[in-house]
Amino acid sequence: MNTSRRQFLALSSLGAAAGLPGSVLRAASAEATPAAGANAAKAVLRLSCQESVAPGKSLTEKLDFLEANGFEAIEPGGRDLIKRVEEFQKALQGRKIKISAVCAGFQGVLISEQEEERKKAIDTMKDILTAAGALGSVGMIIVPAFNNQTKLGHQEARELLVRLLPDLGAHAQQAGTRILLEPLNRGECHFLRQVADGAAICRDVNHPGIALMGDFWHMTWEETSDYAAFVAAGKYLQHVHCASRKDRKMPGEDAGDNYVDGMKGLKYIGYQNFISLECGCKGDRMKAIPAAVRLLREQWELA
Ligand code: MG
Repeated sequence: MNTSRRQFLALSSLGAAAGLPGSVLRAASAEATPAAGANAAKAVLRLSCQESVAPGKSLTEKLDFLEANGFEAIEPGGRDLIKRVEEFQKALQGRKIKISAVCAGFQGVLISEQEEERKKAIDTMKDILTAAGALGSVGMIIVPAFNNQTKLGHQEARELLVRLLPDLGAHAQQAGTRILLEPLNRGECHFLRQVADGAAICRDVNHPGIALMGDFWHMTWEETSDYAAFVAAGKYLQHVHCASRKDRKMPGEDAGDNYVDGMKGLKYIGYQNFISLECGCKGDRMKAIPAAVRLLREQWELA
């Protein structure tokens, strides 16, 4: 029996017990599995690497290295990206490699209790979104507040975030890109730790310019199942970060580094975007990066 059939039957039996009519159950079943499982597009493994992680003295050297090692994208930081749009456009001309996500780089705090901090965040995020859109980026990664950056309680902060995101989503959509919420581990951010919680925020905002990412390294500490986390994220998941599971170095540099469970989830939801290296390196990047690529490709096949 395929997965969606199993889910439908599970929902049906729950519904029968609750006395729900069949039409409600069919709607619930369809909603619970948007473009997932047997109906999902075939997922693809597309690798990306943060600009600061790639070896090379110049952007050209970094792009040469990444292309030679099978990467399809580079992830720049958002800081001052507005001044670098032309540099990236020129460097990418005639290459297959693209921009994946753009990593943060804004000022201020989006869910601060202080209006000035919120305004600084919104204004600088909009500049970065404009640059990200001009570069064809999947989205701009944001953290609503790191630990101790807001005095608001959890519920108040969440309500504020859901109120503020549609305006940023509209700006992102107009620029041709998205906001990507990034859940972090509790040491960095209590406010948003789990991928499914980020997905619930995306659902509540309900704007095409607002999406989500997952970071395998943060997920090590916060998720009970990488598979379940990505399945819960579903259509909202538009970017993934990857590092070794324990020390946040190159995938494969910690004993037992394993991404298969999460990759099964990515396959289930028909994930089409990038897995991007955001990590340090214990060894020589020139050797450790190609080894990480081999490991990720092997584990993708196993998933
Ligand atoms: Mg990350």
